[in-house]
Amino acid sequence: MEYTEIMVRYGELSTKGKNKRVFISILASNVKSALNQYPKVKVHANRDRMHLLLNGEDSTGVMKALKPIFGIQNVSPSIKIPKTTDAIYQTAVAMMTEVYQEGQSFKVNTKRSDKMFELDTNELNREVGHQVIQAIPSIGVDMKNPDITLRVEIRPDGAFLSCETIKGAGGLPVGSSGRGMLMLSGGIDSPVAGYLGMKRGVKIEAVHFHSPPYTSVHALNKAKDLTVKLVPYVGSIQFIEVPFTEIQEEIKKQVDEGYLMTVTRRFMMRITDRIREKRKGLAIINGESLGQVASQTLHSMIAINEVTTTPIIRPVVAMDKSEIIEIAEKIDTFDLAIQPFEDCCTIFAPPKPKTKPRLDRTLDFENKMDVEGLIERAVAGIKISEIQSGQQYLAGDAEEFDDLL
Ligand code: ATP
Ligand code: MG
Repeated sequence: MEYTEIMVRYGELSTKGKNKRVFISILASNVKSALNQYPKVKVHANRDRMHLLLNGEDSTGVMKALKPIFGIQNVSPSIKIPKTTDAIYQTAVAMMTEVYQEGQSFKVNTKRSDKMFELDTNELNREVGHQVIQAIPSIGVDMKNPDITLRVEIRPDGAFLSCETIKGAGGLPVGSSGRGMLMLSGGIDSPVAGYLGMKRGVKIEAVHFHSPPYTSVHALNKAKDLTVKLVPYVGSIQFIEVPFTEIQEEIKKQVDEGYLMTVTRRFMMRITDRIREKRKGLAIINGESLGQVASQTLHSMIAINEVTTTPIIRPVVAMDKSEIIEIAEKIDTFDLAIQPFEDCCTIFAPPKPKTKPRLDRTLDFENKMDVEGLIERAVAGIKISEIQSGQQYLAGDAEEFDDLL
């Protein structure tokens, strides 16, 4: 079938009252950038749905590009035809013949915004149905649970037919909830947290701490490759690398083993918050999951969270590891995440971190350090790069990579 347009139905955002216009315009702009490979497509965003006029572009490719766009409930490829009964019957039969598989049932669902049309809704349902049954005698009719719903819409500018509704990504348009800083390690959890944050409309920037020479360039590139996997949902992502070596060496010198983790996390949180403030973010997102490791007990969270009042979004906090892995596999970050390039936390990790760190003890250690100076130097040393789709980082350092394996 040569489709002429794709109809996009909005998800939850249609219930959001006065914000609706803003949501729709953000979604339209996200759709446009996702479709930049299809320059002929025209995007018309209305109050209830969006129409993408294909102008000859390939409908399968366009629908594939729409798949990761949050804020889309579902899409239907449609054909626009002249408003005559003949054209409607003919196209309905052609479409149904193409999609029908032996044993399937159907129903016709007509909507008529043009009340002047010669047949009313019921008549159209009946007549179109009749034509289809004549052409495909073995097709079943099922009003409650049809396999195929043939939609016919009579609008002032033409008749529109579609018989497929394909599920979209759901969620809210990325950017509609503002900007947030994703604390991205090289692990399984934080990329999933970033994906889920974007699903609720947060435009993320990735903040990654690394400690050369203790951590390798591979660990850094792995974090960048994980970021590449998150790009299809937003178009591009700012990747912010923070030099963390001086801080980790200083912590190692000043802090007892049991408190290394707590103090390290507090520095990460403070620095991420500084960067957030500079870049006008509203929240911090991380991959903490309750009880998974010592730094993720509620006692630890109290001690770590004490450094800021910024909202910390923990999308995977209540998930089991297996549930997190399921999403990681779906978004294709799992295989990368389990590559053995250690990040800065793993290499400085003490054998036995305290599961119930005390805040007063934590502060005693920090009082021995130039906390403000350390933070300022780290923030001054950040490097920002824009990560786009199709980039490859680990593959780029293939030679050294071979040595390592
Ligand atoms: P992940 O799978 O995301 O690494 P994890 O279960 O290993 O998580 P931790 O190592 O305790 O958990 O880290 C908790 C969170 O702290 C991470 O999910 C991430 O958000 C953040 N974090 C840890 N290390 C780094 C790092 N090197 N750079 C940026 N953020 C980090
Ligand atoms: Mg980790």
